[in-house]
Amino acid sequence: MAKDLEKIAKDRGIKYFLVSWVDLFGVLRAKLVPARAIKGMQKNGAGFAGFAAWLDMTPAHPDLFGVPDPDSLIQLPWKPEIGWVASDLWMGGKEVEASPRVALKRQLAKAMKKGYRMKTGVECEFHLITPDGNQLADSADTQSKPCYDQQALMRQFPIIGQICDAMLELGWNPYQNDHEDANGQFEMNWDYDDALKTADKHVFFKFMARTIAENNGMRATFMPKPFSHLTGNGCHAHVSIWDKTGKKNLFATSKKDKRGLGLSPLAYQFLGGIMHSAHDLAAIFNPTVNSYKRINAPRTQSGATWSPNAVTYGGNNRTHMVRIPEEGRFELRLMDGAVNPYLLQASILAAGLDGVENNRDPGDPLDINMYEEGHKVKNAKMLPSNLLDALRQLDKNKVIRAGLGDELIDAYVKLKMNDWNSYSAHLSDWERDNTLDC
Ligand SMILES: [Mg+2]
Repeated sequence: MAKDLEKIAKDRGIKYFLVSWVDLFGVLRAKLVPARAIKGMQKNGAGFAGFAAWLDMTPAHPDLFGVPDPDSLIQLPWKPEIGWVASDLWMGGKEVEASPRVALKRQLAKAMKKGYRMKTGVECEFHLITPDGNQLADSADTQSKPCYDQQALMRQFPIIGQICDAMLELGWNPYQNDHEDANGQFEMNWDYDDALKTADKHVFFKFMARTIAENNGMRATFMPKPFSHLTGNGCHAHVSIWDKTGKKNLFATSKKDKRGLGLSPLAYQFLGGIMHSAHDLAAIFNPTVNSYKRINAPRTQSGATWSPNAVTYGGNNRTHMVRIPEEGRFELRLMDGAVNPYLLQASILAAGLDGVENNRDPGDPLDINMYEEGHKVKNAKMLPSNLLDALRQLDKNKVIRAGLGDELIDAYVKLKMNDWNSYSAHLSDWERDNTLDC
């Protein structure tokens, strides 16, 4: 039986619920619902006007309802009288096909039918900046190789420590926090989990990091490339497929793996699906105009971009799009901080399942430094160089359409194309600087 949110509110002293959901652009929307009204909301959902968010709806559409998933409940560690719940979108008595969490649940159910359960972990990099968004919050964070800089890490302990305390309290099992490769950039890692749980935590982590930064007079940004000379914000995912019970990792193998990476045949098929569709998935994994300034970027101040520009994989080698750090899992390094947390998971699963169904071969791993020798690799597909190319590719990809559904892909491409057109219509300083004297 579903958990009774009204009873939980009484037991735990919750006065309000944030009934939340994420639209196609990854924006977190919510209604703040007093506990006295949560019983009705749990049954019928909280009402929204779909046109007001990034969904392909008009003002004439009927009410959209966010029906909370009580299993996703998180009591805000910094304000325990508020409970956060992820919701699924419904309209006219049916789940909304073009909504990200619903799309992920559909993929997970499809995988479960085949006996597969996807587990993932995500690495959400972010910058701490000033509230106006113009500068790094810490003006003393100036090393040219700032990765793991203890002094700069500890200057932000009031924020990093509070976020980590919150994750400890929530039982996420956080295990490390560090200063990343760009000045002002941080990463915090917690245990991997079932894909839906990881997606909900990913959404909540961004909300939590932003809130705790704001409460400390700063701003946390997950923008893919907030500063042109510094490493951008990636959102790498570690992926494995387990059996239905979640006890046996089907990507691990006890047999000899001829490629020597410790992956099962199923893992190579799944990876083959990722390699097959990755360049078409950039529009989802790298969803903003700014995303393409992170991938395909020139070398940064620290010496490397840490982001891929071609569809290649290797062993424990961070210069490839896919890294296999140890047996039984792989790390996909394409996604950036703007990725929609649910579409990230749904797309990986759709592409991977296609690889399994069609026995796709990822080819042999490459054991080279892609930053130095990438130009020597023949036949590797290159990632799109801007959002327009990426959207055109996604629009044509049959695998992802079949996985995520025409309704979702059509809505996504249409809205994102509007974004591209708005960007193109913008007259930039660069154009004036370079064209006034033409
Ligand atoms: Mg990192």
